[in-house]
Amino acid sequence: MMDAAVFRAWIVSAAAVVEANRDHLTQLDAAIGDADHGTNLARGFTAVLGALDAAGVSAAEPMVPGAILTLTGNTLISKVGGASGPLYGTAFRRAGKALGDAADVELPALAAALEAALAGVQQLGAAREGDKTMVDALAPATRAFGKAVAEGASATDALGALAEAAEAGAQATIPMQALKGRASYLGPRSVGHEDPGAVSTALILGALRDAARA
Ligand code: ADP
Ligand code: MG
Ligand code: MG
Repeated sequence: MMDAAVFRAWIVSAAAVVEANRDHLTQLDAAIGDADHGTNLARGFTAVLGALDAAGVSAAEPMVPGAILTLTGNTLISKVGGASGPLYGTAFRRAGKALGDAADVELPALAAALEAALAGVQQLGAAREGDKTMVDALAPATRAFGKAVAEGASATDALGALAEAAEAGAQATIPMQALKGRASYLGPRSVGHEDPGAVSTALILGALRDAARA
């Protein structure tokens, strides 16, 4: 149902949307962090595009969806410093591992991959929902997608629910006080700002919805 071309299109679209929002993400991080989230992610996804191109040229077999996500994760871990590189890298690696060698990904397998990604982020970063991190976008999005899939929704509807829940989750970080990451150093002064990692998660999951639609 979703083949390697869709997953490749997702990563290409994610790279574009991260680049287009680079300054916005960095400004969000300037308010409650160290003003590097947009530049960190833009650098990482530029490297991911290069890695995908290199792999596409040299590989005898076209990459399967899981391999695309694993390569994305490995590249993010090696190219992005700070908290978000290892966290996003782990998320993509876990999702890639969950998809395994399948050439076509059905919706339940994608739901399981998202759950694996979320579990990886929480294992590594120990953030819970409400701590004002990317988990506040990824967790409700994963839940909404799983629920839609369980209820028999179409791919378009399930991915719409995924992206909408991520966006709502990111916006819901505004009144939260950060309990994890750099923003937590600000204590109550972290209240009143949208979390940059939650916003980038919503952008990346929105790119998945858009890639599957196209
Ligand atoms: P750094 O804070 O190291 O400069 P970035 O600015 O690239 O890294 O990423 C910051 C984002 O990382 C935060 O907005 C938050 O969403 C996310 N983050 C930080 N720590 C954690 C954590 N322990 N668990 C989940 N997400 C986290
Ligand atoms: Mg930062
Ligand atoms: Mg930093």
